[in-house]
Amino acid sequence: MGMIMENKKPFSDKEEFRYKLHLLKENIDVDVLLRTLGFNISKSNSKEVRAPCKIHGGDNKTSFRMDKQTKNWICFSHNCHEEIGYDVISLVMHMLNLDFSEAVRYLESVTGINIYDELSYLEFKRAKDRQEVVQHASKYELPPKQVNEEYLRNFKKFRSNYFEKEKNGKFTKEVLDEFEIGGGYVDRYGFQRDVIPIRDKGSKLVAYSCRDITGKADEDYKYLLTEGFEKDVVLYNLHKAENYIGKSKTIIVVEGFKSVWKLYMAGYKNVVACMGSNITHGQQHLLYSTVFTVMTLFDGDTAGIKGTLNTVKNMSDKINLIPLFLPYDGKDPADCSVDELKDIIGVIK
Ligand SMILES: [Zn+2]
Repeated sequence: MGMIMENKKPFSDKEEFRYKLHLLKENIDVDVLLRTLGFNISKSNSKEVRAPCKIHGGDNKTSFRMDKQTKNWICFSHNCHEEIGYDVISLVMHMLNLDFSEAVRYLESVTGINIYDELSYLEFKRAKDRQEVVQHASKYELPPKQVNEEYLRNFKKFRSNYFEKEKNGKFTKEVLDEFEIGGGYVDRYGFQRDVIPIRDKGSKLVAYSCRDITGKADEDYKYLLTEGFEKDVVLYNLHKAENYIGKSKTIIVVEGFKSVWKLYMAGYKNVVACMGSNITHGQQHLLYSTVFTVMTLFDGDTAGIKGTLNTVKNMSDKINLIPLFLPYDGKDPADCSVDELKDIIGVIK
């Protein structure tokens, strides 16, 4: 690039355009862009981003790969790039149904780099609107720098009574202490959040999930996760649950944090959360190496039922699997009373 800059000869229009496109691509923040386009990023490091391919809609978490340097992408499951074109502009064109110059302008709005000299007012406005969407998206992750024991000790002093007051929760101080729930986290919007620490199997603190306690955050952002946290290879509460798997080596898998706490209140300490409605490949392997029997008790909604059926398909030939279903439509285990949970789960030896 330095050489091009020093070149005194004026560019031909084509060269100049190509150079500007190069500059534009160079300034794209791949994580932000893909999130904005609706990709659910499963892995991101300095070289690449992986996600389920949003184009064909598969659920393989690594089938879509974008190279962080070239911004080119590939779909390993369905070769979607062959149909659409493997560069980032083609991707934007496809995902947002734009033509080439509209896609370029969209990327300009994302990067703040203008490669066209003139923008009509409408185009400018549209670009601006989209920029707000992008900024909105990038707000919703927590910086990882506070994920350490010292910060956690401080957060613990500032827990609110949010979870104690929750309508169906009735979580006790004792159970919230047991799960080290803290508070006092203020996100970039200025919304206060309670802090749920997440530890890996070896008890290492690896992330937080932070719950909005003001009621002002958007529905999708009630919980914020630490940026870069690879939840695929962590089961919430496994570091404690594995001490209670008993002679039958049985563990119960639920979807969410609060379901873990509620089962704990009902006397089930051998419980972990997969933090979604699917047990990922990495989480399955954690289970295979820890227990003989897996009971699932997912949420009583469509996603929960789908997740249960997927789990049966993926795991029943590898481990003793007992899928349980909530008889209460739309409820999740955290909404149930202790007695209801005892009825559903029964006695585990
Ligand atoms: Zn694909």
